[in-house]
Amino acid sequence: MPAITQDAIRELAAFRGDRAPVTSCYLNVDGRRLARREDVEHELERVLREARRRGNGSQSCARDFQLIEDYVRGGFDRSSTRGLAIFSCSEHGLWQVVPLPVPVRSRVVVQDAPAVGQLELVVNEFNRFGVLLADRQRARMFVFEMGDLTDHSERFDELPRDYDARGERDQGDKQSHVDALTSQHLRRAAGVAFEVFQQRGFEHLTIGCPDSILGEIEGYLHPYLRERLVDRISLPTSASLDQVRQAAIDIEIEVDRDEEAAAVERLRSAVATGKRGVAGLDPVLEALGAHRVQSLLVSDGFSQSGWRCGDCGALRTLGRQCPGCGSEMHQIEDVVEEALDEALRQSCAVRVCVGNADLDVLGRIGAHLRY
Ligand SMILES: [Zn+2]
Repeated sequence: MPAITQDAIRELAAFRGDRAPVTSCYLNVDGRRLARREDVEHELERVLREARRRGNGSQSCARDFQLIEDYVRGGFDRSSTRGLAIFSCSEHGLWQVVPLPVPVRSRVVVQDAPAVGQLELVVNEFNRFGVLLADRQRARMFVFEMGDLTDHSERFDELPRDYDARGERDQGDKQSHVDALTSQHLRRAAGVAFEVFQQRGFEHLTIGCPDSILGEIEGYLHPYLRERLVDRISLPTSASLDQVRQAAIDIEIEVDRDEEAAAVERLRSAVATGKRGVAGLDPVLEALGAHRVQSLLVSDGFSQSGWRCGDCGALRTLGRQCPGCGSEMHQIEDVVEEALDEALRQSCAVRVCVGNADLDVLGRIGAHLRY
């Protein structure tokens, strides 16, 4: 999957449908919740039905919906894709599919420009990942971004082969010489990893190497790299690029899941101690209105009808008088959706959690507060 860059997102965001609106479709295809292909198709049907009902009836839009449906039904690689972002404007020939390695909140938005908020979020939040494969002679260093290879370096330090010709009495010397060469090689391998880090930067590093050299290679890593280490992968230096990519994606998903669990745990304890954390829809809506939200956690699929104040923009679950300015509020289909949009506008970090029972218990939505 080609990684989408910030520049590409900016370009996409600048697109305007002059004669026809743009359809933006985010689809959660996470295998943990939507295991079967039919589940994904149902998810799509749900958001498209909603969009058609709200639809503006334009031909271009109807074609967009059809194209999106055909694409999803046609099947796509789900091994490394947990979310899809699709942008279409048939009238102007816009069609872009961005597979994402993290889940998104399923929704279809029809407006004059692509709705890139969720996409930006994923690209900002998703980490660059370093993979170092090493053995006694070879070292290969990779950097992946959103599952896409962005850097690759190799190093080979040959061990001498002519030892066998020597006599038995040299055995001891031979071993210490080989050890010294191996150490030198491992130090260089760690050096390659650091060079790549300085050039590209990455947030996490995983190592694939034999047990016998792990301790030594970790010892040679620059402290910046050591603090970025995550679980090891078991791949030989001869692994194919596809194998390395898949291993990187798998471990990245694991890291992401751990971070999600940690974020929910931090929220739980912040709420319990009353320190900079709120849980449940109403407290979150109030905190958003006060611009106090730093980051938002929401359970995938959570939606609820509510109210919006046309004057001050306040969102609430109950109407109809605005608690902020006293104006009359109008009813909206999904106040959770609007809360997420508002959070994105305020540049809050937003994380969509899939199947996180702890967050569900907290009311399916919660926020870490700035103060
Ligand atoms: Zn108001």
